[in-house]
Amino acid sequence: METDVIVIGAGPAGLCLARALDVSGLRVALLERESEESLRAPKFDGREIALTQRSVRLLRDLGVWSRLPPDECHPLCEAHVFDAGAREPLKVGGGDEPLGWLVPNHAIRAAAFDAVSGSQDVELHAGVRIATVEADTTDACVRLEDGRSFAARLIVAADGRFSETRRHLGIPARMHDFGRAMLVCRVTHERPHDDTAWEWFDRGQTLARLPLGRATPCGHRSSVVLTLTGAQMRDLQAMDDAAFAGEIARRFHGRLGAVSNPGERHVYPLVGAWATRFAGTRVALLGDAAVGMHPVTAHGFNLGLLGVERLAAELRDAAATRADPGDPVRLARYERGHRLATAPLHLATRGIVALFTDDRAPIRALRAGVLRASAGFPPFRRLLATFLSDRPRTGLPGNHRITALRAASEQGDGRPGRADRW
Ligand SMILES: Cc1cc2nc3c(=O)[nH]c(=O)nc-3n(C[C@H](O)[C@H](O)[C@H](O)COP(=O)(O)OP(=O)(O)OC[C@H]3O[C@@H](n4cnc5c(N)ncnc54)[C@H](O)[C@@H]3O)c2cc1C
Repeated sequence: METDVIVIGAGPAGLCLARALDVSGLRVALLERESEESLRAPKFDGREIALTQRSVRLLRDLGVWSRLPPDECHPLCEAHVFDAGAREPLKVGGGDEPLGWLVPNHAIRAAAFDAVSGSQDVELHAGVRIATVEADTTDACVRLEDGRSFAARLIVAADGRFSETRRHLGIPARMHDFGRAMLVCRVTHERPHDDTAWEWFDRGQTLARLPLGRATPCGHRSSVVLTLTGAQMRDLQAMDDAAFAGEIARRFHGRLGAVSNPGERHVYPLVGAWATRFAGTRVALLGDAAVGMHPVTAHGFNLGLLGVERLAAELRDAAATRADPGDPVRLARYERGHRLATAPLHLATRGIVALFTDDRAPIRALRAGVLRASAGFPPFRRLLATFLSDRPRTGLPGNHRITALRAASEQGDGRPGRADRW
């Protein structure tokens, strides 16, 4: 089969790129190993994705935001950062607009899939097994185990941080095992959350509390996030619901009040990824396949969307001028721009994890000092709020074309007013 762009991986990044290329004049083949049914109705996976304002704007433009159930989108108004050695937390946000929005990962995936299902130029091939991926200066080709093959002018690898496509193409990645796992779970608790997220660097554990909207008759809802060693995690996993709820209340030093109704617990190993190249001959890497972040700074998918915005702008521009979407100059520009946009946060996140998970006395004193100084310096707090919300900047080539999609998609989904209400 001949097409223009092959996207491997229909995760949130691959789906959003496919959607962003719709009506651009480029034909897209989207190859995914999971079944179509699991893409249409993905299971809850415990991840509550903190979206920046910029990401929300892009999801609106793509017609994804208006497809999200409103009761799954929770405003994130403030963030408080605690350290065991500092008396006062660092407080960020609290302005007129929320810092961002918390939306469960499965809801983003379902909404993005729904948006892509209505796309004219995207052909989904779900449940496929890829045998080989090859690319040279004239052509790119993917062969499936069932004997089918796809030829295109560009392959986009969006198959996650352990990307096999990267390996097929000989692109190395620096993987960093943080030696910890992260448990995420929704709970009900007694004390109100005030739409405020907590990040809590405690001795021997890192905790987070993500606020999930209005109170229910049973109490307030939040997602709790615990970063622990494998052995500690096993003990926690072995507890029944009542013991687990009590343990969460204890680990949060009673600040949640009584904890009840824990939902399903999901555990993720913490491994970061940084591909040594984001583009090659007729190939581009996108989402976690390019940059797989530690979730502590809540930016993995936000960076993935930045990549979608940048790559889609290049490809839509190529289509508009009848140029080759695999043009090495365009791919080099995407690579350069996306590396520059992601490297500082990728490195800073590694630094934050190193500084805030080291319990030696001098390091503890250093981080308490850093938090105290930051808390007492309002310009830094404002800068942090701007960074966390990542309010829209202009300047990406061809971005107006993605915006044009918004008008089309909002007419097409039959619910034109919903996006604007938020
Ligand atoms: C606990 C946790 C909390 C997080 N919180 C946040 C947050 O608050 N904010 C934020 O921005 N990010 C957050 N993230 C990160 C975010 O979840 C990821 O960055 C995002 O899901 C990556 O999307 P992706 O499409 O690149 O990759 P994935 O979601 O990994 O999707 C890859 C897709 O490719 C498919 N695939 C894989 N291999 C193949 C193959 N060989 N052939 C075909 N298909 C294949 C997979 O089935 C999948 O559908 C969090 C992550 C975790 C673990």
